[in-house]
Parts: sequence; structure tokens; C-alpha cells
Amino acid sequence: MKYIFVTGGVVSSLGKGLAAASIGTLLEHRGLKVLMQKFDPYLNVDPGTMSPYQHGEVYVLDDGAETDLDLGHYERFTSGVLSRMNNLTSGQVFDSVIKKERRGEYLGKTVQFIPHVTDEIKDRIRMVSENNPDVDVLITEIGGTVGDMEGLLFLEALRQYALEVGKENVCFIHVTLLPYIKAAGEVKTKPTQQSVAKLREIGIQPDIIICRTEADLDEDNRKKIAMFCNVERKNVVAFRDVAHTIYECPLDLRRDKIDRLVVDKIGLGHTPAPALEDWERFVQRVIHPKHKVTIAVAGKYIELQDAYKSIYESLIHAGAHHDTKVRIVRVDTEAIEDHGAKSVIGDVDGILVPGGFGDRGTEGKIQAAQYARENKIPYFGICLGMQIATIEFARNVCGLTGANSTEFDKTTKHPVICLQEEQKGVEDMGATMRLGSCESILFAGTKAAELYGNKDRILERHRHRYEFNSDYQDRLQECGLVISSVSAEEGLVEIVELPDHPFFIGAQFHPEFQSKPNFPHPLFAGFVAASLEHAQKMA
Ligand code: GLN
Repeated sequence: MKYIFVTGGVVSSLGKGLAAASIGTLLEHRGLKVLMQKFDPYLNVDPGTMSPYQHGEVYVLDDGAETDLDLGHYERFTSGVLSRMNNLTSGQVFDSVIKKERRGEYLGKTVQFIPHVTDEIKDRIRMVSENNPDVDVLITEIGGTVGDMEGLLFLEALRQYALEVGKENVCFIHVTLLPYIKAAGEVKTKPTQQSVAKLREIGIQPDIIICRTEADLDEDNRKKIAMFCNVERKNVVAFRDVAHTIYECPLDLRRDKIDRLVVDKIGLGHTPAPALEDWERFVQRVIHPKHKVTIAVAGKYIELQDAYKSIYESLIHAGAHHDTKVRIVRVDTEAIEDHGAKSVIGDVDGILVPGGFGDRGTEGKIQAAQYARENKIPYFGICLGMQIATIEFARNVCGLTGANSTEFDKTTKHPVICLQEEQKGVEDMGATMRLGSCESILFAGTKAAELYGNKDRILERHRHRYEFNSDYQDRLQECGLVISSVSAEEGLVEIVELPDHPFFIGAQFHPEFQSKPNFPHPLFAGFVAASLEHAQKMA
């Protein structure tokens, strides 16, 4: 197996994850089998317990691992199958080392950062490569910025690992920022030089430097970076701000032939140039769509670009599929509570209520669902959004006054959403929700089944604690709510829909984790199609 290690310098939020994922795309299009993983130096065991304000979206894998949102980019940009093995945090590393120490596995030795902690990190790379013998290239991205104290052990482990597997099998890529100083009218290379110097101090010489720039990278600066950072001139690669969509990133990196530089370094130079036509066509559809729809996303973390990352990406995939630009308006549901749904949401072609936790803004979300239902505006509820739709229907159609989820009102008279027995005693908050892929049955004749191409079983990823309360199932169905899917094992309600409505669907799972550029998720595709119809009707 060959290895690519991607580090970041100068500042965070550089697009290091996108750079790594884009290299994955390019190598896959050269016919190579690629797998990606992320190392995160923070002490949380996983990001599952972190607030979206801290961390953005928590991305869930098939096996239920709650991971960094960069794994979402990896799954959307490459086809490698990811598992909890593909996201390692310092929290996991130390947890494992300390458990081994308590079990006496170090046979009386003094347990130290080097070699014991670094061995633990190297073991993870080794384990992933051994478990995936058919993979040609493993790309590992290291979170954080070179120079951070907490990243040091990971970098040291990579240095050792490269030595062990042979440097000819490893490519180190360092992603840095070239700031543009307006007053001087110049792009500055000094922070990049210093960041590379930091890497070299710990024994890592990058093979390729990816320079994030707003504008182009001129020849003088390329030469300067090459000389001061001790890399060949051709290995200084520009990574410009893309104009329209992140899916342009692989195409941008291809301009300096990064994939060729990488394969030459790791001895895979015989692979053909990437055939990117399918990717280019997708990008063209994103950039030059024929139609336009406006969709309101009504959530709690709307000011945060990263909190609903996979949902926004899924809307782009579905939009491209229908040759449609999806304009997203972010709606603060607390504002709905103060001013009413009509005045805050206004004229939109679709309303999406995403997942969430805690009761802030939930009454506003319920009003958003009511507004969509009554005005026949397409509605798509995801996880909490499905629970919201259920509560709204119970209150306003079935007349169950005060119906609620016990998450928001422990003493509600009508707990239409509640905890399952096995969740009641749970005290640990980490990794204890209903998580990961789960099979459910689709009922023929429903809108959902039609969207899934009349399949009778589907696999979707979950991340929630509360469930549709089966005690209310009959009552809600009598009032007209259609249950279109239940879990195969426990019979838990997975999808609800309304028949006399252009599109009103709530899914207890997270379809946004399974949408890809040329393969939009069927529920998102259906939602965008219905929104487009709505837009055309209103025009
Ligand atoms: N808070 C809800 C639950 O735990 C919904 C979770 C979500 O939307 N991911 O069930």
C-alpha cells in the first residue's frame, strides 16, 4: 500500500479536508482504489458530544461512528467505504493506552509518549491498511495546524511510519495559506516558509506544498516557496478559491497536475491521466442550471455554515440532478416564534427542518411545519424535523392539545415522541444514541416507496434518542398520517408522509449522509422536484 499524509499550516479552515478529498477524487479517476482517514488531535473520544458551535456537523457512518465532518467530504468525493477505524482522535489514543496500562499489557515498562502513544497511532494506520488489502492508496489527513502542541505526537508517528514502510511509498503534502496583503498589493510566502520550517524541525520534509490563494500563484512566488521550503518548483501547487462550488476543487488542483506529482512520488506513475468527464459534467450542471428554487432551512444553527453541511451538499446534488439551482434561505426558528411563520419564511418553494437537539426554537419549527402543511408547500423533515411534523400533525389535525416530544416537555399529556425503554436508563451521553445504518421496510403505494424506486427495503443512517410513540400510531393514522416505513427489527416508525399534499415527508434517519454528486438521495431528489413544481406553479 502507498500512503499520503496531509498536514495543514498557517491557519485552520484552509480547506485541507477538501484538498485531501480532491486528491482522492483525482486518484480514483486514475483508476486507483483509494481509502481516506482523518486523525483529530483533540481529546474528545469522538465529536459526538461536541456542540455544532464547536465543531459543525457530526457525520455518521454506516457502523454508527460519529465522526468529523471531513469524513463527509471523503464519502462524497471518493467511493472508499469508511468505518470507525477511519477517524482517530487523541481521546481514543489515550483511552486505549491507559486501558492497556491498567491491564498490564506494557509488562512493567514505563508508559511513555514515545514509543507507546506513537505506536498506538501507527497501529491504526497499519490496521486500516491490513484490513483493506485491495486499497492502493491510503490518504490520512491530520487535523489542526502544524505548530499546535496537540498535533505533535501524530506528526512524530507519521515520521516514524514513513521510515518503516519506506519513504518511496509515502507522499507528505502540506497545505498552507498565502495571505494577500492589500496595502502592499502582495501575496506573502513567509508564513508558508515558517510552517514548513516547523515541519522540518520534527523531521518531516513535505514532498508537495499546496498553497491556498485567493488569486493566482505567480512564477516568482512559486520559485521562492520551492527554494525556501526545499521542494521542487513543480511541486508547489496552487489551490485557488473556487468560484462556484467545492466540486470544482479537484479540477482546480488538477491544473497543476497534483495527481501526477503524487503518483510519481509513490511509484504509481504508470496509471493513466484521470478521466474526469462525469465530474466535469456534474460541476457544469451545478454552475449553469436552467431552473431555480428557493428552499427555507429552518433550524437552530442556521448562522453556522458547517452545522448542516451534508444537508446543503445533498440539496446541491439533488438540484444538479434536476438542472436546478437551490437557493437556500436560512430561517431562524426563534424568529418564527416572535413574528409568525408567514412573515419570517414568506414565499419559498420548499421548507426543510433539519435534525437538532434541545427545545430552543422547537415551537418555531412546529409553526414552520404547519405553514408548509396548510399552504401545500413541499416539506422535508429530517430526524428532529420528522418528529416536529408528527407533533404538529397531532396537535393541529388530531386535536391532541399540548402534544409534544418528551425531550421538550417531560410532562406532556400526549407524548407522541418519546424515549424507548432501552434509552431510559442511559447516563453516558457519548455514543449511546440509536446510531448508524439500520434496515427498514418500505410500504408499497406510498410516496416514499415510489421515490425509492419501489424498493421494499432500505438502509439508512440514524442518530437520535427519541422515537415516534407507537401508542399514538393508530390515532395519527386515523387522522390521515401515512406511515411509509418502519424499522425491520423493532417496527419503529421511520418515515411519515401526508397523502393530500404535493410533498410532505418526515424521515427519522439522516438521508443526507448518503447523497453523492452524481447519485442524489431519492428523498432529496423528490423534495427538490416537488419544490421545482411549486416554483413553476407560482411563476
Ligand atoms: N433530538 C432528537 C432525538 O434525539 C432528534 C435528533 C436529531 O435530529 N438528530 O431523537
